[in-house]
Amino acid sequence: MKHDDCLFCKIIAGEIPSAKVYEDENVYAFLDISQVTTGHTLVIPKIHTVDIYEMDENVASNIFTSVPKIARAMKTTFKPAGLNILNNNEVAAGQSVFHFHLHLIPRYNKDDGFNAKWITRNDEFSQEELQDMANNIAKEIE
Ligand code: AMP
Ligand code: ZN
Repeated sequence: MKHDDCLFCKIIAGEIPSAKVYEDENVYAFLDISQVTTGHTLVIPKIHTVDIYEMDENVASNIFTSVPKIARAMKTTFKPAGLNILNNNEVAAGQSVFHFHLHLIPRYNKDDGFNAKWITRNDEFSQEELQDMANNIAKEIE
C-alpha cells in the first residue's frame, strides 16, 4: 500500500528519481542521496512500513533475504574494508524518513564519514542483573 505523503513510497512508484541497485516483488534498494560513504545503500520494503515495531514477519523475511546478495555485490564493486548495517527507529534514534529502511554503509577507514561509537559498561551489571533484564524482555516476546 502506497502512502501518498511518503518519500520512499514515491521513490518505489518512480515519482521521485532514485539510483536503483536492486528490485524484486517485495524489496527495493537504491543509493542514499547523502552517500555517507561511497556506495551507501538503502534497502526498503515495497509495502509501507513505518519502523521495525510494526513490521510484519513476512516483510522482515523478504527484506533480510535480499541483504546478503546486495552486500556481496557492494563488496565486489567497491572493495570496502568492511560494512555496517544500520536501522534507525523513531526520532530519538535518528529516523528521519518514516518508511523502514536498512542502511548498508561500506567502510573504508576510520575517517570515512561513518562512526558508530558506543561506550561499553561491562562492569556495571552482574550476571544476575543481566539475566533479570533478559527475563523481562523474554516474557514480552509473543
Ligand atoms: P534515516 O535518518 O535513518 O531515516 O535515513 C533517511 C535517509 O534517507 C538519509 O540517509 C537520507 O540521506 C536519505 N534520503 C532522503 N531523501 C532521499 C532521496 N530522495 N533519495 C535517496 N535517499 C534519500
Ligand atoms: Zn512509504
